[in-house]
Amino acid sequence: MKLIFLGPPGAGKGTLAGLVSKELGVPQVSTGDIFRDAIKRETELGKKVKQIVGRGDLVPDDLTVDLVRERLGQPDAARGYILDGFPRTIPQAEALEAFQKLDAVVNFTIGDDAVAARLSGREICKSCGAIYHVANMPSRVKGVCDKCGGPLYTRPDDSLESITNRLEVYKRQTEPLIELYRKKKLLRNIDSSKTPEDTLAQVRTVLGYRK
Ligand code: ADP
Repeated sequence: MKLIFLGPPGAGKGTLAGLVSKELGVPQVSTGDIFRDAIKRETELGKKVKQIVGRGDLVPDDLTVDLVRERLGQPDAARGYILDGFPRTIPQAEALEAFQKLDAVVNFTIGDDAVAARLSGREICKSCGAIYHVANMPSRVKGVCDKCGGPLYTRPDDSLESITNRLEVYKRQTEPLIELYRKKKLLRNIDSSKTPEDTLAQVRTVLGYRK
């Protein structure tokens, strides 16, 4: 299955993409993770995008599209994938359409207040990328990943200033994709305001598979 997970920052795309990718046996392709990894390893790409990502602005379309095209050309993505955080602009969506045929776009919906609350308490594992929340989904041991024992950290772009900017960028640049995919009859809306388990159950239903 070739899928896009769409929704505002904090809607739970990343958490759900991780869960669904395991159940379907297809890779999760997260452009945010790719950029964060490049920044951490201080690669050429990382140096180029560090400031942009830190502010919560979007990386230029051509750079992002090339990266995704390269990633989707890898053998493990031939059978399917979950795109998490891409496309985020109309030009990205058009570029993708030129070389991939999608099966569905899952749109995670949630109110602005809930989004801000989720993002401001978020913690990420430095080693494996697992996502936690200090109040809603804490790790068993404070600051330590349940899955791999790695250290947890707060993303620099989860500062209040960046969060506000990311939400604005989402509304201006990414929200128009909802209409685009609705017209193409690919859109599947999900209410992601409750728990990850509840959201996962809805995803299974709209995609028509069982655990
Ligand atoms: P979130 O959905 O929580 O905002 P992501 O991990 O998806 O975060 O993305 C983090 C940052 O990486 C974005 O704010 C942006 O700077 C950059 N980024 C990720 N995906 C894209 C994309 N498709 N186009 C441009 N920039 C992107």
